[in-house]
Amino acid sequence: MEVGRRLAAALPAGMRNPLKAADDKAMELASQDAELKAALFRFVDVVPACRSLDDLARHLTGFLGEVETPPPPVAVAMKMGSSRAGRTALGAAAAAGVKHMAHRFIVGESPKAALGTLRELWKDGVASSVDLLGEATVTQAEAERYAARCEEALETLAAATRGWPERPALERDASGPLPRANLSVKVSALTPLLRPDAPERGKRDAADRLRGLLCRARDVGAHLHIDMESLDSRDAVLELVLELLAEEEFRAGPSAGMVLQAYLRDSPQTLDTVLDWTSGAGAARAHPLTVRLVKGAYWDHEIVEAAQHGWSAPVFEVKADSDRNFEQLTRRLLDARPALRVAIASHNLRSLAHAIAYDQLRGGDGADLELQVLRGLGDPLQHAIAAQGLRVRTYCPVGDLVAGMAYLVRRLLENTSNESFLADQAKGVPLEELLAPPGAPTIAGER
Ligand SMILES: Cc1cc2nc3c(=O)[nH]c(=O)nc-3n(C[C@H](O)[C@H](O)[C@H](O)COP(=O)(O)OP(=O)(O)OC[C@H]3O[C@@H](n4cnc5c(N)ncnc54)[C@H](O)[C@@H]3O)c2cc1C
Repeated sequence: MEVGRRLAAALPAGMRNPLKAADDKAMELASQDAELKAALFRFVDVVPACRSLDDLARHLTGFLGEVETPPPPVAVAMKMGSSRAGRTALGAAAAAGVKHMAHRFIVGESPKAALGTLRELWKDGVASSVDLLGEATVTQAEAERYAARCEEALETLAAATRGWPERPALERDASGPLPRANLSVKVSALTPLLRPDAPERGKRDAADRLRGLLCRARDVGAHLHIDMESLDSRDAVLELVLELLAEEEFRAGPSAGMVLQAYLRDSPQTLDTVLDWTSGAGAARAHPLTVRLVKGAYWDHEIVEAAQHGWSAPVFEVKADSDRNFEQLTRRLLDARPALRVAIASHNLRSLAHAIAYDQLRGGDGADLELQVLRGLGDPLQHAIAAQGLRVRTYCPVGDLVAGMAYLVRRLLENTSNESFLADQAKGVPLEELLAPPGAPTIAGER
């Protein structure tokens, strides 16, 4: 509680909650009305394909027309859609709205364009991980292009970060130096063949491109982090990463990492697998594996997918169960150091405070704990964490709107969910309640 209160008090005034931004009016409306939410999400999804303002306005009013009881702003939009001049104005406003929303989460169109922001963050005591937007490629050519963009990004970041000022808290822990250049990649973007019914084929196809990226990261001294996606690719991604990193040629580097998703009921077993690897095949590596602990960004997808097939949900269905598991995994990860490096990724003050407090209980001073947030959601938090002298890294997506659409929709889904910490914080739930331990386990949670 004390750690959480300190963190909350360090949030920069005026930017206490990112969900209070001006463009959140639409999101606020959407979170109160499921039909409106669906209409707005369908619109956001088609924006990059619209060719004119008139086209945009027609799509917007087309989707909004399906909302049975439109709130006043929607009725105004519908009225505007009935004349050509109105449609042009409406299309311009809608395009500006979506772009503004996207820019909150996406740092720039290319790594080069993002360098200024990344450097400013670094100067403020905030490290970054660049995420090249793009996922679920459908052709080999697309996968090749993604891999080439990643190689270029590694080089651009490594070259630029060399000139950055020294920031000791961000550059070293008890296991040694931490690379300044850090890139996050998605395996589904490195192969069009990643399918649950033929995992070996996807793994083989992705392996060559991922091996190339690992070589490049090693050569330029960068960190390569492999994100985790939906459950249907989890095992293939985990095996691929652990197998490649155990190869002789990667023994000396690069620094690399993977992601553990606490919303998955079987995540404690996944951690067993990772820990076995650190004391077995991965034991000889010069850089400990970094494990980024998250709750998981595909919750709605996993629930719907399981329901469609008549399966029981692989994810917890009660939020507190995910939160409690997150804390249990946090403790196991922190206990496992120095065999691995730990990154706790969350915007939930309670989840972060718990990690900081547990590290302190174990005698740590924060130097062997990294906290991570997402650009656009963790902006106030990143400063509060840095102000405590702790290491924080912000995940910074880079790319255009088309490539970023799936990412943007996941962030919007989270922002309009009634079960998110940030939504509770924005609603004004008292700090004591926000920092309270997750409730007792439910029967469903124990399943
Ligand atoms: C730096 C960084 C990197 C990330 N990388 C990845 C990644 O590689 N892969 C990935 O999947 N995600 C990733 N995420 C996203 C992360 O998984 C969460 O979606 C996001 O951070 C929200 O969780 P929270 O702890 O911030 O907020 P909270 O509000 O505390 O938690 C929200 C989360 O709780 C879970 N949840 C919501 N409703 C329920 C329910 N009814 N029952 C059970 N659980 C529920 C969901 O996971 C939801 O995202 C990353 C996040 C960060 C900060």
